[in-house]
Amino acid sequence: MTEIPPDAAARRAAPPVVCYPIETLPQPDLALYGSALEAAELVESVTVPPREAASFRVAAGQFFRIVSVEGPQVGDLNLWHAGDLSERFYSGKTRALHGTHVSSGDRLWSSFPHLRPMATIVEDTLGWYGIDGFGGSVHDVIGTRCDPYTGNLLSGTQYHHCCHSNLTRALGDALDMPLPEAEAHVHDVLNVFMCTGFTRDTGQYFMKASPVRPGDHLTFFAEINLLGALSACPGGDCGSEHSSDAATCHPLRVDVLAPPGGALGAWQPPARNGYDRSHGR
Ligand SMILES: [Zn+2]
Repeated sequence: MTEIPPDAAARRAAPPVVCYPIETLPQPDLALYGSALEAAELVESVTVPPREAASFRVAAGQFFRIVSVEGPQVGDLNLWHAGDLSERFYSGKTRALHGTHVSSGDRLWSSFPHLRPMATIVEDTLGWYGIDGFGGSVHDVIGTRCDPYTGNLLSGTQYHHCCHSNLTRALGDALDMPLPEAEAHVHDVLNVFMCTGFTRDTGQYFMKASPVRPGDHLTFFAEINLLGALSACPGGDCGSEHSSDAATCHPLRVDVLAPPGGALGAWQPPARNGYDRSHGR
């Protein structure tokens, strides 16, 4: 036990300072996106089978919508630049900028050195949930993705339908890429519809039954050309356990919607980050 200093209370009373105030972030034109979405038409629909993943492509300026169908189900989302897998969703920086859970108006940011919005959330039918009495909320960027390595570490299992493996197979199939190569591109996810938080007493990552109902959806505007993969987590609604076939699972659907020509006015995809990358030399 470390010695408690006499001014411990004063040190604990120092006020928190938000690490990254976002007032200076370039703001999305949500009214423009909203009117474009209203006029958009369905161009593709992809079903993600339970305990599997599926890939989809969305052109910059189109929308994609993740839809709950049949029953409560959590989805693990990966995103890449469609033409450059080195630019991928950066869960940690998205968390640092927007908080532990994302909703309408928040953006999914890409990895260094790109660091630009890949997608902007334009609709969230679970926006009503807020933060519950346990500190839980939906659509987190705090979890990683269920994976067979942690399962093996904790329980000695060889389970092949964790989101990590599902995403690996989906990306491998999409790009005709061997699985070891595809696996290296799989990254920390956005946990769509998942209800999570940290326990107040021990600070541990927790999950609880997702409040999602069939018909609920989360809709994104694609800021750049995207390749996406979505896994229907073996945890189902994540109210009991994951990394096994024990939970009841349901499919998810991804709809891609295209607005009519001219609906986005002079909108252009965001430029890559402006840092000169000289790193002081
Ligand atoms: Zn999972």
